[in-house]
Amino acid sequence: MRCIFCKAESSASRSIEHILPESIGNSKLLLPKGVVCDKCNNYFAKAVEKPFLEAEAVRQMRFHEGLPSKKGRVPSIVGLLDPDVPVRLFRDAKDRALSAAVPTEHFGRLAERPEGRLLMPMGGAPPSGTVLSRFFAKVATESMAARLTYDPRLLEQFIDDPQLDPLRNHARRGQPLDWSVHVRRIYPANARTLGPDGSWGQVMHESDFLVTPRQEIYFAQAIFGIEYTINIGGPDVDGYLEWLDANNQASPLYAPKNLELYEMPAPRPG
Ligand SMILES: [Zn+2]
Repeated sequence: MRCIFCKAESSASRSIEHILPESIGNSKLLLPKGVVCDKCNNYFAKAVEKPFLEAEAVRQMRFHEGLPSKKGRVPSIVGLLDPDVPVRLFRDAKDRALSAAVPTEHFGRLAERPEGRLLMPMGGAPPSGTVLSRFFAKVATESMAARLTYDPRLLEQFIDDPQLDPLRNHARRGQPLDWSVHVRRIYPANARTLGPDGSWGQVMHESDFLVTPRQEIYFAQAIFGIEYTINIGGPDVDGYLEWLDANNQASPLYAPKNLELYEMPAPRPG
C-alpha cells in the first residue's frame, strides 16, 4: 500500500485520516489506515489543518456551533459586554452553556449595572490564501481517494496519475503558490433538513464533484452552509464561474448535474 500524497510505502502506517478535522464536527469522513501515511497525516494536522482551524471566523463558527477539539475544548472568543467591556467567552462542550470572563479592572463598572447585553462577534477574518487553498486541496484529494478505496487497483492509478500532482503538491507544499478557492454562503449555518429516518438534523458538511461542459472537475464542500469549491485540475475557478452563470448560481451540491448539463436544448417548434 502507498500513501496518496507522498506515494511512499505506507502499509505499516497506523493513522486513520479524517478528511475534515474532528474539530469541525467530522466523525464519519475517514480514510482507512495507510491511505495517508503517518508522516503526511501528522504534517497535515500541523501545517494545514491547524492554521485553518485557528482562523478567527473558523474559531467563531466552532464557538457558535459548540464544536470541541480532539481534547474536548470549544475555542473561546472575545465578545463585548454592552457597550464596551471586552470579555472572553467560553462554551461548555457538553451542555453548550455559555460563560464569560470579565477582566478584573471592569468589575466595578459591571457591579453598577443590574443587567447588560452581550455582543457576540460573527465577522472574524475567514481563512484565506494558502491556509484556505491547501486545506481544500487536501480535502479534495482525500475525497477523491475515498471513492476509490474499495478497489486497490483504482487507488494505485489515482496515486500515479500525473494530472493530480499539482493539486497534491499544493496540499503538501503550497506549490504552485496560488490556487483559487471559490467561497460563498449557500444556506444559513443552522439550516436543518429532514433525514431519511424522519428526524430533523443540522447539515454540518456535505460535498460532491462537478464535471463542467469543458470537462473540468470541481470539488465542492459545504461546511455549516459555506460552500468552498476548488478545481481539481488547475489553480483557477474560471470554469466554475462560467458554470454558475449558466446555472443561475445554483450549488453543484443541489443541482442535478451532468444529466441536464449535457442535454441539448430541444428544437423550437415551427
Ligand atoms: Zn505520505
